Amino acid sequence: MATYRIAVLPGDGIGQEVIPEAIRVLEAVGKGTGAAFEFERGLVGGAAIDATGAPLAPGTLELCRASHAILFGAVGGPKWDDVPHEQRPERGLLAIRKELDLYANLRPAKCFPMLVDASPLKRQVVEGTDLMVIRELTGGLYFGEPRGVERFADGGARAINTMAYTSREVERIARIGFEVARKRRRRLTSVDKVNVLVVSQLWREVVTRVGREYPDVTLDHMLVDNCAMALVHRPTQFDTIVTENTFGDILSDEAAILAGSMGMLPSASLGGAVGLFEPVHGTAPDIAGKGIANPIAAILSAAMLLRYSLNMTKDADRVDQAVLRVLEGGHRTADIAAAGARPRGTREMGDLIVREVERQY
Ligand code: NAD
Repeated sequence: MATYRIAVLPGDGIGQEVIPEAIRVLEAVGKGTGAAFEFERGLVGGAAIDATGAPLAPGTLELCRASHAILFGAVGGPKWDDVPHEQRPERGLLAIRKELDLYANLRPAKCFPMLVDASPLKRQVVEGTDLMVIRELTGGLYFGEPRGVERFADGGARAINTMAYTSREVERIARIGFEVARKRRRRLTSVDKVNVLVVSQLWREVVTRVGREYPDVTLDHMLVDNCAMALVHRPTQFDTIVTENTFGDILSDEAAILAGSMGMLPSASLGGAVGLFEPVHGTAPDIAGKGIANPIAAILSAAMLLRYSLNMTKDADRVDQAVLRVLEGGHRTADIAAAGARPRGTREMGDLIVREVERQY
C-alpha cells in the first residue's frame, strides 16, 4: 500500500489546536484504506521566530519539498506584531508559496443545510450554495512591474501598480480551473473585466482556447462587477469560478460569508509539485488556548489534500460526508452553536468526526 509523507506546519494560536484534529482524521483514513501517512512537523510563523529568529525555520522548506503535501495551520498573533516587516510571521507562508510555485488558490464556499441560518444572507438565497473560487496567486496587479511612487517638487505624487499576465500564466491557471471543474459539476465561470482591461482580453482569449481541450466542461465568462452582485444575489448559479489575483482576493472573501463561519472554510494552494492545504482562518488570538476552536476548516482542508494531492477522491468524499453527518447530528462548536445549546470543544468535535470517518469504511 502507498506511503504518503505529509509536512505538518501548525504555526501559531489555534493552528496548534485544529491541525492535530485534521491529522487524526487522516489517520482514520489511513486505517480504513491501508495507506500509511507519515507526518513530519516543521516550524513556521511566530513559532519559528521564537525558536530560530526567522519566520521560516531552516529545514522547513526542504521538508515541504520532500513531502507529498503540506498541512498548514495559521501564523501570527499579537506577540509578533512589532517585529520588522521582513521578519513577520506571514513571511514564512509567503516564502513557501513562492518557493513551491503555488500559483492557484482554491477556496470552496459551501452552505451546509443545517447552518443556513448562520449566514447573514436570507435562507432562500444561500440554501444549496456549493461553489469554488480559484484565484491566480502569483501574478497580476500585486506583483506587476513597474510599481512605486513618484514624488513631485510641488508636493504632489503619482503611484503606479501594473496588472500584467503572460499567456503562459493564464493558460496554467485556466487548466487548473478546468481540471477542478471536472472533479465537481463541470461548469466553469471565468471572471474578468474585458470591457475595460486589455489584460482581460488576453485572459478571455486564452481561457477560451484552453476550453476547447475540455469539451465536457461548460465554460462561460462573466464581468467581475456582475459576478460580485451575482454571488450575493444568486450564489447557487455558480459551480467553479476562475479569476486573476486581485479579483479573486475580493470575490473569495465575499463568497466566504455565504458559509456562515470562518471556522468552516478550507483552502488549497496548488501549482508546483507539492500542494499546501490550510484553513482560511487565522490564529484567532481571542480564543487560542481555550480548546474551543472549530476544527472543521482544518479537517475539510485535509479532505482537499486527499482529493487534490493524493487523488483519493472517495476518501475525501468520506471525510466531507463525516463532517456533514456530525453537523446533522446537531453537534456544534461555539462559533456555529445556536444560543443556549451546549457547544462542543475542539477535541470533542474531532472525536465525533473521527468516529464518523471510521464508520464510513
Ligand atoms: P482570525 O481568522 O484569526 O479570527 C477572526 C475571528 O474569527 C475571531 O473572532 C476568531 O475567534 C474567529 N475564528 C477564526 N477561526 C475560528 C475557528 N476555527 N473556530 C472558531 N472561531 C474562529 O482573523 P484575525 O483575528 O484577523 O487574525 C488573527 C491573527 O491571525 C493575526 O495575527 C493575523 O495576521 C493572522 N492570520 C493568519 C492567517 C494565515 O495564517 N493564513 C490568515 C488570517 C489571519
